[in-house]
Amino acid sequence: MANIDLQNTDVAFKNLSTAKLRKAWCLFKAMSYPKLVLVGGVLLEKSLEWGLPVSWILKRSLFQQFCGGEDLSECLKAVNDLGRRGVASALHYAVEASGSDPEFENNTLKTIAIIESRHLMPGGVPHPFCVIKLTGIVATSLLEKVQSHKPLELHEEQDYLRFKRRLRRICESARDFDCSVLIDAEESWIQDEIEKVSIDMMRQFNKQRAVVYTTIQMYRKRRLAFLENCLELAKAQNFYLGVKLVRGAYLEKERERAQQLKMESPICSSKEETDQQFNTGMQRCLQEVDSCALFLGSHNENSVQRFCQLKKKYYTNRNKEGQAVVAQLLGMSDHITFNLAFEGHEVCKYVPFAPVPKLVPFLIRRARENTAVVGESSRELRLIEQELQKRKTNNQLAGSYSRA
Ligand SMILES: Cc1cc2nc3c(=O)[nH]c(=O)nc-3n(C[C@H](O)[C@H](O)[C@H](O)COP(=O)(O)OP(=O)(O)OC[C@H]3O[C@@H](n4cnc5c(N)ncnc54)[C@H](O)[C@@H]3O)c2cc1C
Repeated sequence: MANIDLQNTDVAFKNLSTAKLRKAWCLFKAMSYPKLVLVGGVLLEKSLEWGLPVSWILKRSLFQQFCGGEDLSECLKAVNDLGRRGVASALHYAVEASGSDPEFENNTLKTIAIIESRHLMPGGVPHPFCVIKLTGIVATSLLEKVQSHKPLELHEEQDYLRFKRRLRRICESARDFDCSVLIDAEESWIQDEIEKVSIDMMRQFNKQRAVVYTTIQMYRKRRLAFLENCLELAKAQNFYLGVKLVRGAYLEKERERAQQLKMESPICSSKEETDQQFNTGMQRCLQEVDSCALFLGSHNENSVQRFCQLKKKYYTNRNKEGQAVVAQLLGMSDHITFNLAFEGHEVCKYVPFAPVPKLVPFLIRRARENTAVVGESSRELRLIEQELQKRKTNNQLAGSYSRA
């Protein structure tokens, strides 16, 4: 099967005016300088600590590129714009956890509000997803303690029960509002517990369809064996396995910690090994079309092409809407997202939102990621430059025709 043309910049940037495209160029250009991103990130963090008014700079730069809005109503405009182009949204109230109970409760309510906003979306907006990081509704330290099997104090047991109740409320709401919950993967020292809780939720809520998805990071060693166990368990216990498959975002942090603790690194020893696990994992999920739903999060063009080919092979003559979706982050790899949608593939964008000051850590991470990912910002830059050049040539041609 022929590859899909992902390089069509007409399709990729159709909704962006030339002014907006130039602005995106400036941003990606700035992010291509690692030192600028490093110093800028530290300055931003300090400015916020000192109470300096930097929100307005962020709102007009990184925030505009990578976020859907400051609140849900602002975000619904982005959701509708994406929906009109055949792209689904996975909304995420993306504040970082501070560790307090009222904030966990607030994050739970915001997530439920996202799910319930489904009825505000006009017909034609594709099946929505909602994203949750469990450290937004429970303390990281508590997850770590539970994972390491240390005995809990009474108040910690109560905190943990409250966390599970919050998560159940979110899943119930997703089931009732025909939405799906993607549970993000985090660092390995809390991730095993996150997976355990996620599987528990799937057992309860995924009887008719995949309401809940766990995330499997294929940069971790022995994740294929873990995936196979999950597939078997789902069949044996009669529930749909919802899998968000990613390579993994905490590479440096994981390796540094393993080195500090003088333990074996949990991460594959090479990018090739990660790629191989990722590709095989994708194939296994798509093969198990009757018991597994796949949400593939990747900006890698080869992976995306492979996904489309395998989906065609294993999903022949099946109407399984929303069951195998590929996704990118808002503001990144638009050429992949919009060209796939243009060709009729099911595709989704992660759309984070929150008040600007609360999104600073998230935005700094996005900027660092665009600098760190090999070729990512240069690939974005090249495509934007190509489209700007094409528009300039077209304008010149139009000018010369009208003078003639
Ligand atoms: C929609 C979406 C949702 C996501 N959700 C999560 C999530 O819940 N949790 C999470 O952790 N991440 C998440 N990510 C981020 C993801 O894990 C990757 O970090 C990011 O997408 C880059 O990987 P890639 O597949 O796009 O492309 P690529 O650029 O091909 O891969 C880069 C990735 O390969 C791996 N890698 C690079 N070098 C090495 C090496 N030397 N050895 C071993 N592995 C290496 C790393 O994982 C690195 O991030 C998400 C991404 C998307 C698009």
